[in-house]
Amino acid sequence: MLDAIVVGAGAAGLTTARELARSGLSVRVLEARDRVGGRAWTERLTFGVPIDRGCAWLHSAEQNPWAPYARAHGFTVLERPPDWGQRIGRERLSAAQRARRDADWDRAAEAITAAAAAGRDVPVSTVLPDDLEFRPHFDAIMSWWMGVDTHELSTVDFAASDDSETNWAVAEGLGAVVASAARGLDVALACPVSAIDWSGRRIRVTSPRGMLECQAVVVTVPTTLLARGEPRFTPALPPEYEEAFAGLPLGLANKVFLEVEDGALPFEGTTNFIASGTTVRTTSFSVRPAGHDVLLAYFGGGYARELERDGALVAAAREELARLFGADFERRIRRTTATAWAGDPWARGSYSAAKPGFARCRATLGRPLAGRVFFAGDACTTQTFGEINGAWESGVAAARGVAAALAERVGSDAA
Ligand SMILES: Cc1cc2nc3c(=O)[nH]c(=O)nc-3n(C[C@H](O)[C@H](O)[C@H](O)COP(=O)(O)OP(=O)(O)OC[C@H]3O[C@@H](n4cnc5c(N)ncnc54)[C@H](O)[C@@H]3O)c2cc1C
Repeated sequence: MLDAIVVGAGAAGLTTARELARSGLSVRVLEARDRVGGRAWTERLTFGVPIDRGCAWLHSAEQNPWAPYARAHGFTVLERPPDWGQRIGRERLSAAQRARRDADWDRAAEAITAAAAAGRDVPVSTVLPDDLEFRPHFDAIMSWWMGVDTHELSTVDFAASDDSETNWAVAEGLGAVVASAARGLDVALACPVSAIDWSGRRIRVTSPRGMLECQAVVVTVPTTLLARGEPRFTPALPPEYEEAFAGLPLGLANKVFLEVEDGALPFEGTTNFIASGTTVRTTSFSVRPAGHDVLLAYFGGGYARELERDGALVAAAREELARLFGADFERRIRRTTATAWAGDPWARGSYSAAKPGFARCRATLGRPLAGRVFFAGDACTTQTFGEINGAWESGVAAARGVAAALAERVGSDAA
């Protein structure tokens, strides 16, 4: 019998398994996909250069544990800040425009913080001042940042998120960093767990490879799937866990990567520009993300969901480029590829975003059940949710919880 089984080989699952193995416990990771990394996924096949189809930024980089991990494992951490918020369309915002935009942002943030401090976990859209000059721009940024539109964004969740505003990329891809954490671990791929029976002292975990027994299980499956009963728990979990799965879905962000003819990329170096400042139905472009010669269009929230559903992500990116740089630019696009995270059967979304009224549920997922069922993942922390650093943090906490619970069990068996 194994000491522990970890369900899911994403950032949380791999961190958990590494910690458990380091404590000398026997651990196996069961992963549904035919690759490790989950929503962290660097891919080189499409363009011959690494592109991050999932996470790309080390947020709060100077305190993000994946940054020292990446350096220690030979990756190139690019310690230069992105130039977000400088350009709308082809033009650089003037200092006066930036000052007005930043003042708008501060008033909006203050209103959200005040609502959260008063215990009002309501949609952000309902607490914003009515006279924000840059409101569509604010809404668009929120859709990229949080993966939901402001009418779906929880005040308490947003106010609790702790972001130092230092963001670094990795030349070889952040997904490659996360995937490297699988080295040396016992990971079974193409192994979706369908059922977890925690009725007895031994936990029974069922997958197409049969049934495995363990003393403790750490479930890192995205909450979108747990809310659908995937995997199924026997006995059923207490209602507060079901409430947490339903109240903590994943927001949506989708990426379109475009390869253009030599010399056709606009601007110098790695540059960001937003297609339009007057609508939430817009996209944020990055030229040469992580230094590679491609264009990236980032879509978020309801607009990303609608475009994915209609198979229209690439067309929307092309249209914006043609509008900004002329029809001739569009003809210079050689190849494209788009993500589809809402339809991904093992994610069904991009990053954790509490529904208004449910931010309190994050704490529930951080609590183990009967000393043998643990949850970890980007939904399980209150300040670093929706990010790989939160996934790491929750993975370490779950591993420590498992080690302590098993040590206690050995003690009580001996007594
Ligand atoms: C487009 C996009 C951009 C992002 N940008 C950033 C960013 O810049 N910075 C950042 O920090 N974060 C970013 N994120 C979020 C970040 O990728 C996630 O927060 C993090 O990867 C989540 O890790 P996790 O281990 O909690 O979940 P996952 O990575 O989803 O891992 C869960 C694993 O469980 C597996 N699984 C599911 N069901 C089963 C089952 N029944 N049996 C076995 N295995 C199962 C899945 O296949 C998956 O591998 C982004 C995400 C997306 C999609």
